[in-house]
Amino acid sequence: MSIIRRLSPSLINQIAAGEVIARPAAAVKELVENALDAQSTCIDVYLENGGKSAIIVKDNGVGMSSEDLALCVERHTTSKLQDLTRISTFGFRGEALAALGSVCRMTITSRKREKSQAFCVRIEGGRFIAPLAPAALTEGTRVEAQDLFFVTPARLKFLKSTAVELGHCAQIVKRLALANPHVTFQFFEGSKRLFSYQQNDQKTRIIEVLEKLSADNLLSVEKTQGALSVFGVIGKPTCTQATSAKQFFFANKRAVQDACFNASLRAAYQELIARERYAVAVLFLALPLEDIDVNVHPAKTEVRFREARRIQLFLTEALSQTLRTDKSIWTGPKDAEKHFAVSFSSSPPSFKTPPPFPCNAYHLKESPPPLYKAPPPLEQSSFLEDTNYPLGHAKAQVHRRYIVAETQDEIVIVDQHAAHERIVYEKIKSAFASTGAVSQALLMPIVLRFSNECLELFAEHQAEFARLGLQYQIIEPEELTVFAIPTFMEGADPKPLMQDLAEELKMWGKGFALVEKFHEVFATFSCHTSIRSGRELSVIEMNTLLRTIERTEHSGQCNHGRPTYVKIPLSKCDKLFER
Ligand code: ADP
Ligand code: MG
Repeated sequence: MSIIRRLSPSLINQIAAGEVIARPAAAVKELVENALDAQSTCIDVYLENGGKSAIIVKDNGVGMSSEDLALCVERHTTSKLQDLTRISTFGFRGEALAALGSVCRMTITSRKREKSQAFCVRIEGGRFIAPLAPAALTEGTRVEAQDLFFVTPARLKFLKSTAVELGHCAQIVKRLALANPHVTFQFFEGSKRLFSYQQNDQKTRIIEVLEKLSADNLLSVEKTQGALSVFGVIGKPTCTQATSAKQFFFANKRAVQDACFNASLRAAYQELIARERYAVAVLFLALPLEDIDVNVHPAKTEVRFREARRIQLFLTEALSQTLRTDKSIWTGPKDAEKHFAVSFSSSPPSFKTPPPFPCNAYHLKESPPPLYKAPPPLEQSSFLEDTNYPLGHAKAQVHRRYIVAETQDEIVIVDQHAAHERIVYEKIKSAFASTGAVSQALLMPIVLRFSNECLELFAEHQAEFARLGLQYQIIEPEELTVFAIPTFMEGADPKPLMQDLAEELKMWGKGFALVEKFHEVFATFSCHTSIRSGRELSVIEMNTLLRTIERTEHSGQCNHGRPTYVKIPLSKCDKLFER
């Protein structure tokens, strides 16, 4: 142990390979990135046994001269790096081929563009086993890596099943395909072609890679702020996934895994989808080359943003904005028709006619209009038969659960309970955030008896509850008088509500802000409001509900991510009846 020796080059490469080539997918990534750096427009990836037995990547790029071919497998040989602070190519470290060549049997065949002859080299465990020789190849480069890790059996043992390794490889190719829509990709395992993407525009490529998700489930993200910009798509909250396999993040077209992206997604979707579900997201962040350090991780999947905090805020804002405006990525009627089957089961396409009130104005208003109250004259006069409301005119209530409405060319079905929950949720949220909700005075104030311990807790939160529209006073010992409830709870019986709140306050104890218990408070309020499934609604109530949904943010889904309403185009109904 005490004798210090210099490591042999092949051992150094094997150690480096541990970082760069940890598994077949990492080799696939390096090889495809090399093909992309070589300006290929067509890249084929062949795997055997999930890449464990063989990985072949073939491209039609600029190729290499025989001299470069002999050099490229040496460590720290690259044709790319000029300036570490402004990295624009995928590769720059010049160690991938050397590392890969040290842990497998590798054959590289390449033909430099405009040259009449191709050449090949063969390397096994880091040693040239055959001198550079002429070979047959019509164009580009073909790298074949066989028996990965045959030199380091310990590492072999860490590889997972063929299916798992194959999945990782496919995921890598998809990521690279997303960032390079102008390149045709084919992906084979054994003799089977698993997927292929033709040269295409960015959005079509995204749809192809996301598979089985229609454009109607996706929202378009686009935002620029100074030198920062983000572009891409995210899934509607109604279309979530069990894993993060449909999340792809890029910084300057380089696929990255960065906490900034995850944190922004979590923030933007936090109240829209269940905690254990994943949103669909393909996001391309563009920022000045000098604001990002990609030389943090040997496989270059981690990056360091100079101003991570600012980027995270920027991303969160871009995503929240997208979710608020609910703009489907396709608007053409042809596409809507094509994707109808899926759109039906999820939330409907975005509004075409502008609503009578600006959709998001509710957020800005200090006093949102009351719900489920006979509408005030001004609102009543706006229920004009010939107005094109986005959710149409209520026609009927069925099974005491669904409101059926009609627009000019659609049938709209609203889940009254889900819609109502979303509205209450948004009201409580905005009440916490702003000056407060509107209260409705009770005709007869209600006097309730509570223990003094309980009254202390109610007293502690009096101002906060008042902001939510729930007003009470504690005058006598052991007595609390409720004199107003939020208008969105009109018709609710204050007594059981207060009793439930008392139970919760006791459970939470002293010394917290009500806003920290947002979800619990929301659940209690919402469960005491009167419009739930099972209650009969008048036409006026139904129309009031529809108009309120139109003004409420995120109203396309309830806060569990289920859709609150669906729209069925009349044309689709006509088809059902073969008209
Ligand atoms: P890096 O990509 O970081 O430069 P690599 O070890 O991956 O390092 O590749 C070394 C060099 O080999 C590259 O800089 C490039 O000149 C050449 N090369 C590798 N793959 C290809 C390819 N598919 N087509 C053309 N040249 C390639
Ligand atoms: Mg490379």
